[in-house]
Amino acid sequence: MDHQITAPAPNGSDLCLPCGLCCEGVLHGYALLAATEMAQAQRMGLQPETRDGGHLFPLPCPLYHGSGCPTYRDRPAVCHDHQCELLANYLAGEMGLAECLALAEQIHGMVRAIRGRLGAVDPAKRIWLQAEEYRQQRGGGDEELRRTDAELARDLASLKMLCRRHFNPRGIGTGPRG
Ligand code: SF4
Repeated sequence: MDHQITAPAPNGSDLCLPCGLCCEGVLHGYALLAATEMAQAQRMGLQPETRDGGHLFPLPCPLYHGSGCPTYRDRPAVCHDHQCELLANYLAGEMGLAECLALAEQIHGMVRAIRGRLGAVDPAKRIWLQAEEYRQQRGGGDEELRRTDAELARDLASLKMLCRRHFNPRGIGTGPRG
């Protein structure tokens, strides 16, 4: 653990803005909205939809471009209220900013490397979906991937494990955010 020198910014924005792993769809597949937020989300370009009676917008967020959120002040409630385990630890003083950012950067690096191996860099598509399409193209499931592309299979497993250990999302890449 590195030592906390300054207090976290309100809501941990000093961590979340450069991190953005939930915005990029690495941890979740969609973010829930209130019915009253749908019109505003549409205006913001979030491509909101109604599914099974619930309201949401798909992730990756089309507004996040790796260096922050252009609508951070006006973001939906779920983005404002969501706290992954890393953010909760940071706000509680259990982890320092440098340590948290290093972990986020480690995961970003793994995502970049995996996307490179998948041979398709489409930031609008979740990495888990790209991996699934890659598996299907190769005509097999996890076992086939382990046999033919052990390095990729190992990196996907490591990424999933790191996300679970430090961010504790419910259903990596597919579950809701918030
Ligand atoms: S993954 Fe956690 S630390 Fe990163 S932006 Fe989302 S809530 Fe903030």
